[in-house]
Amino acid sequence: MKRKAQKKVGSGHRIKADLSKQTPNNSYSPPLYYEDVSFKCRDCRAECVWTAEQQRLWYEEWGGSVQSTAVRCRACRQRVRREKIEQKKHMEEMTLKKGSKRAG
Ligand SMILES: [Zn+2]
Repeated sequence: MKRKAQKKVGSGHRIKADLSKQTPNNSYSPPLYYEDVSFKCRDCRAECVWTAEQQRLWYEEWGGSVQSTAVRCRACRQRVRREKIEQKKHMEEMTLKKGSKRAG
């Protein structure tokens, strides 16, 4: 028998926010608490949970904007990040090629 390990959302699990650590902003009221929130991944439509702890890390440790929220699941986030790195590498190669043409 397999027990379903399902995360409860809104189960009262919340973390008090440290407002002094959040990125300053003028127009948005900052979250006072972080609570587990469920959302659908923008790309693959998977049901995900953005946990209170992940939110705290994002807002307080990584300097994330308080206006941004999770839109993608972990797998899709990693894919997007890889694509961005590939794109950057490609751009750098193009720049290098241009430079070498001029030199030659
Ligand atoms: Zn996804």
